[in-house]
Amino acid sequence: MLHDGQNALVVDPGESSVVFDALQQLGLKLEAILVTHHHADHTAGVADLRQATGARVFGPLNERMPEPISRLRDGAVMALLGLRLEVLDVPGHTAGHIAYLTQPAGQAPILFCGDTLFSAGCGRLFEGTPAQMFNSLSRLAALPDATRVCCAHEYTASGLVFARAVEPGNQALITYQVQVGSLRERQLPTLPSSIGLEKAINPFLRTHVDAVVASIRQFDATALDPVSVFAALRTWKNQF
Ligand SMILES: [Zn+2]
Repeated sequence: MLHDGQNALVVDPGESSVVFDALQQLGLKLEAILVTHHHADHTAGVADLRQATGARVFGPLNERMPEPISRLRDGAVMALLGLRLEVLDVPGHTAGHIAYLTQPAGQAPILFCGDTLFSAGCGRLFEGTPAQMFNSLSRLAALPDATRVCCAHEYTASGLVFARAVEPGNQALITYQVQVGSLRERQLPTLPSSIGLEKAINPFLRTHVDAVVASIRQFDATALDPVSVFAALRTWKNQF
């Protein structure tokens, strides 16, 4: 959720009750609902919220969505909460997955990336190709390092176990795993992450690093070009 003290927007409400609770506790009016892709754990709360609040719903151009919805193409720009929000096509997890990017005045940018990028991981390829996901993640990796990464799931701790297997000698990864363990022990979130941090620890953003490539080729010696290396890493994670 983002809010300005009066109005709010939510991204990917997989259920409505937690959003209603937050709106009530903070005394907010729901202005908009932003959806990144069609999976039920991102959309199941949309109908209730829309009916109760009249909020406008925005989502991908070409995915099955709870109608009515304003459909957004790559590069679309919206004005909500006094912010400029931009849409990025990031196919791979689903065929039409989108992300939302905004930069509040005087603050680091904020990225809502749904199930495309997780901290220390990335989404499974349910509909898209490895090449699509590789390009989508490359696009996100090119954002400023300070960009706050609001992933849709708290999968950081398990992602780090795999990341350590891929790149056991990465000191940033070792340090981050200790921090994450401490946060999760206290039941605190590890998110948002940042693009700079993900570039340092996330194997799916590090498939150009020699040590990562060498490790992936131990899993699949036939992975030669960058997309094949990425695809092999994703397959390895699926089996891990
Ligand atoms: Zn999903």
